[in-house]
Amino acid sequence: MNPSIRVGHGYDCHRLALPPEGGPLVLGGLRIEHDMGPVAHSDGDALLHAVTDAVLGALGLDDLGTQFPDNDPRWHGASSDHFLKEAILQAQNLGWTVGNVDATVLLERPRLIKHRSALREHMSKLLHVPPDSVNIKGKSGEGLGPVGQGQMVEVHATVLLHRIS
Ligand SMILES: [Zn+2]
Repeated sequence: MNPSIRVGHGYDCHRLALPPEGGPLVLGGLRIEHDMGPVAHSDGDALLHAVTDAVLGALGLDDLGTQFPDNDPRWHGASSDHFLKEAILQAQNLGWTVGNVDATVLLERPRLIKHRSALREHMSKLLHVPPDSVNIKGKSGEGLGPVGQGQMVEVHATVLLHRIS
Protein backbone atom coordinates (compact mmCIF):
# COMPACT_ATOMS: atom_id res chain seq x y z
CA MET A 1 0.00 0.00 0.00
CA ASN A 2 1.33 3.44 -0.96
CA PRO A 3 1.35 5.88 1.96
CA SER A 4 -0.61 9.12 1.42
CA ILE A 5 1.57 11.23 3.75
CA ARG A 6 5.29 11.53 4.43
CA VAL A 7 7.16 13.48 7.11
CA GLY A 8 10.60 15.09 6.88
CA HIS A 9 12.93 16.76 9.34
CA GLY A 10 15.58 19.38 8.58
CA TYR A 11 18.28 21.07 10.64
CA ASP A 12 20.67 23.88 9.81
CA CYS A 13 22.97 26.27 11.62
CA HIS A 14 25.24 29.14 10.65
CA ARG A 15 27.87 30.99 12.59
CA LEU A 16 27.09 34.70 12.94
CA ALA A 17 29.81 37.33 12.58
CA LEU A 18 30.19 41.06 12.07
CA PRO A 19 30.73 42.28 8.48
CA PRO A 20 32.67 41.78 6.31
CA GLU A 21 32.99 38.15 7.48
CA GLY A 22 29.26 37.83 8.12
CA GLY A 23 26.84 38.74 5.34
CA PRO A 24 23.41 40.35 5.78
CA LEU A 25 21.07 38.37 8.08
CA VAL A 26 18.51 36.59 5.90
CA LEU A 27 15.92 34.24 7.39
CA GLY A 28 12.93 32.70 5.63
CA GLY A 29 13.82 34.69 2.51
CA LEU A 30 13.58 38.04 4.32
CA ARG A 31 16.38 40.48 5.12
CA ILE A 32 16.35 41.07 8.87
CA GLU A 33 18.05 44.12 10.34
CA HIS A 34 20.91 43.07 12.66
CA ASP A 35 24.56 44.02 13.21
CA MET A 36 25.75 40.41 12.63
CA GLY A 37 25.04 37.94 9.84
CA PRO A 38 25.79 34.40 8.70
CA VAL A 39 29.15 33.18 7.51
CA ALA A 40 28.07 31.19 4.45
CA HIS A 41 28.71 30.42 0.79
CA SER A 42 25.09 31.15 -0.22
CA ASP A 43 22.98 33.79 1.59
CA GLY A 44 23.19 31.59 4.74
CA ASP A 45 19.41 31.45 5.23
CA ALA A 46 19.29 28.77 7.96
CA LEU A 47 15.47 28.76 8.04
CA LEU A 48 15.05 28.05 4.32
CA HIS A 49 17.95 25.57 4.41
CA ALA A 50 16.30 23.57 7.23
CA VAL A 51 12.89 23.62 5.51
CA THR A 52 14.45 22.61 2.17
CA ASP A 53 16.23 19.68 3.86
CA ALA A 54 12.95 18.66 5.53
CA VAL A 55 11.18 18.57 2.13
CA LEU A 56 14.06 16.63 0.52
CA GLY A 57 14.19 14.32 3.56
CA ALA A 58 10.48 13.54 3.31
CA LEU A 59 11.03 12.63 -0.36
CA GLY A 60 14.02 10.44 0.50
CA LEU A 61 16.24 12.48 -1.83
CA ASP A 62 19.81 13.78 -1.47
CA ASP A 63 20.05 16.66 1.00
CA LEU A 64 20.68 20.34 0.28
CA GLY A 65 24.47 20.14 0.70
CA THR A 66 24.67 17.24 -1.75
CA GLN A 67 22.39 18.76 -4.39
CA PHE A 68 23.81 22.30 -4.10
CA PRO A 69 27.43 21.87 -2.90
CA ASP A 70 28.94 24.90 -1.20
CA ASN A 71 32.08 24.62 -3.35
CA ASP A 72 30.02 25.21 -6.54
CA PRO A 73 30.51 28.83 -7.72
CA ARG A 74 26.90 28.87 -9.03
CA TRP A 75 25.63 29.03 -5.43
CA HIS A 76 27.99 31.78 -4.23
CA GLY A 77 25.73 34.40 -2.62
CA ALA A 78 22.69 32.59 -4.05
CA SER A 79 19.22 33.34 -2.73
CA SER A 80 18.01 30.30 -0.81
CA ASP A 81 14.51 30.87 -2.22
CA HIS A 82 15.93 29.04 -5.25
CA PHE A 83 16.83 25.92 -3.22
CA LEU A 84 13.38 25.65 -1.65
CA LYS A 85 11.61 26.27 -4.97
CA GLU A 86 13.75 23.52 -6.51
CA ALA A 87 12.86 21.06 -3.68
CA ILE A 88 9.13 21.87 -4.07
CA LEU A 89 9.43 21.24 -7.81
CA GLN A 90 11.03 17.86 -7.10
CA ALA A 91 8.18 17.06 -4.69
CA GLN A 92 5.56 17.99 -7.30
CA ASN A 93 7.30 15.91 -9.97
CA LEU A 94 7.14 12.90 -7.63
CA GLY A 95 3.44 13.51 -6.88
CA TRP A 96 3.69 15.24 -3.50
CA THR A 97 2.56 18.59 -2.15
CA VAL A 98 3.27 20.33 1.18
CA GLY A 99 0.66 19.98 3.93
CA ASN A 100 2.27 22.11 6.63
CA VAL A 101 5.62 23.25 8.00
CA ASP A 102 6.59 23.78 11.62
CA ALA A 103 9.98 25.36 12.32
CA THR A 104 11.84 26.53 15.43
CA VAL A 105 14.50 29.23 15.03
CA LEU A 106 17.05 29.48 17.86
CA LEU A 107 18.44 33.00 17.81
CA GLU A 108 19.42 35.24 20.70
CA ARG A 109 19.01 38.54 18.88
CA PRO A 110 17.00 39.97 17.20
CA ARG A 111 13.71 38.52 18.43
CA LEU A 112 11.87 36.97 15.50
CA ILE A 113 8.36 37.60 16.83
CA LYS A 114 7.87 40.91 15.02
CA HIS A 115 8.82 39.30 11.68
CA ARG A 116 6.65 36.21 12.19
CA SER A 117 3.69 37.14 9.98
CA ALA A 118 5.94 38.45 7.16
CA LEU A 119 7.97 35.21 7.30
CA ARG A 120 4.82 33.07 7.15
CA GLU A 121 3.50 35.13 4.23
CA HIS A 122 6.73 34.89 2.20
CA MET A 123 7.40 31.21 2.92
CA SER A 124 3.78 30.25 2.18
CA LYS A 125 4.29 31.54 -1.38
CA LEU A 126 7.45 29.44 -1.85
CA LEU A 127 5.68 26.36 -0.43
CA HIS A 128 2.33 26.91 -2.23
CA VAL A 129 0.34 26.66 1.01
CA PRO A 130 -1.77 29.17 2.99
CA PRO A 131 0.19 31.25 5.57
CA ASP A 132 -1.47 29.39 8.47
CA SER A 133 0.19 26.19 7.22
CA VAL A 134 3.64 27.68 7.91
CA ASN A 135 4.47 28.01 11.60
CA ILE A 136 7.63 29.75 12.79
CA LYS A 137 8.61 29.71 16.45
CA GLY A 138 11.46 31.79 17.82
CA LYS A 139 13.50 30.68 20.86
CA SER A 140 16.44 32.33 22.56
CA GLY A 141 19.43 30.39 23.85
CA GLU A 142 18.88 31.67 27.41
CA GLY A 143 22.33 33.28 27.24
CA LEU A 144 23.98 29.85 27.07
CA GLY A 145 26.20 28.26 24.44
CA PRO A 146 26.95 29.73 20.98
CA VAL A 147 23.26 30.53 20.31
CA GLY A 148 22.87 32.25 23.67
CA GLN A 149 26.04 34.24 23.10
CA GLY A 150 24.72 35.48 19.75
CA GLN A 151 27.35 33.60 17.73
CA MET A 152 25.03 31.18 15.93
CA VAL A 153 21.57 30.72 14.46
CA GLU A 154 20.08 27.23 14.55
CA VAL A 155 16.86 25.98 12.94
CA HIS A 156 14.87 22.75 13.29
CA ALA A 157 12.04 22.17 10.81
CA THR A 158 9.40 19.52 10.24
CA VAL A 159 7.42 19.21 7.01
CA LEU A 160 4.39 17.07 6.19
CA LEU A 161 3.86 16.14 2.55
CA HIS A 162 0.72 14.61 1.13
CA ARG A 163 0.09 12.82 -2.11
CA ILE A 164 -1.42 15.02 -4.82
CA SER A 165 -3.59 12.27 -6.30
ZN1 LIG B 1 22.68 26.67 5.71
